[in-house]
Amino acid sequence: MDQIRIRNLKIFAYHGVYEQEKEQGQNFCVNAVLYTDTEKAGKSDDIADAVDYGAACLFIDNYMRENRFDLLEAVTRHVAEELLLAFPAIRKVELEVEKPDAPIPLRFDSVSVKTERGWHRVFIALGSNMGERLKFLERAVADLRADVCFRGIRVSDYIETAPYGGVEQDDFLNGVLEAETLYSPEGLLARLQEEERLAERKREIHWGPRTLDLDILFYDDLVLAKKELSIPHPDMKNRQFVLEPLSELAPFYVHPVYRKTVKEMLEELEETGRA
Ligand code: ADP
Ligand code: MG
Repeated sequence: MDQIRIRNLKIFAYHGVYEQEKEQGQNFCVNAVLYTDTEKAGKSDDIADAVDYGAACLFIDNYMRENRFDLLEAVTRHVAEELLLAFPAIRKVELEVEKPDAPIPLRFDSVSVKTERGWHRVFIALGSNMGERLKFLERAVADLRADVCFRGIRVSDYIETAPYGGVEQDDFLNGVLEAETLYSPEGLLARLQEEERLAERKREIHWGPRTLDLDILFYDDLVLAKKELSIPHPDMKNRQFVLEPLSELAPFYVHPVYRKTVKEMLEELEETGRA
């Protein structure tokens, strides 16, 4: 993707662990790479189609002067996230914040922290088979819509499905949600688990079928195989109740491991089901 590069933006601000840094302030230097598609602006030659880098520099300067953090890690993380929220055409940002005069009693040029944040396309499976199933699903969707770290949320139709896996329990209501998110994969899992806890706590259920199950299906084309988090979701090729709503939203999305489209996976499952 195209890049807009900002080098050595000088800012005077008050971040640091030491009291003296917070009171007297010091110089900071910011390097940023803004990833954006410049094709439209390149053709039209119109600033309205471009990411205004002057405005982006003023935004960074203003945010860093108006807020105070102890750590450079916190400064870079927050500035990167706020930039992405304020300038929707920026898809990803690499941001480095340097302290040329950090309080270190040695000779050095500067210390810095660099981070990368961006929007990621995700698909999340939604399921419920307890109580007011539709309400649980709709409330989870509404909560995610209200969270600034998600945008462009689309939800499939909900389908009624018989339980999967042999346990005797009520029918499920299933669907799939598509969104762009600023969360990391682990951050997204934690955010979804928080939403699950919220649904269960409300109904005071100690054990049993799920009021709300939120599973990450895809996260860009990331492949991750950890015990706590497997992406793409490992069992998705066997689950009609996942592939059907997923196929409604993104039939041609390619599974990064099987290299098959969602539509192909659904067709294969329907064929084996019939055999
Ligand atoms: P299930 O979804 O299999 O019915 P749970 O919702 O209780 O069961 O999830 C069990 C664990 O699965 C979670 O604690 C989580 O760490 C793990 N997990 C692994 N991969 C994923 C994924 N892609 N999405 C959601 N949870 C996942
Ligand atoms: Mg789950």
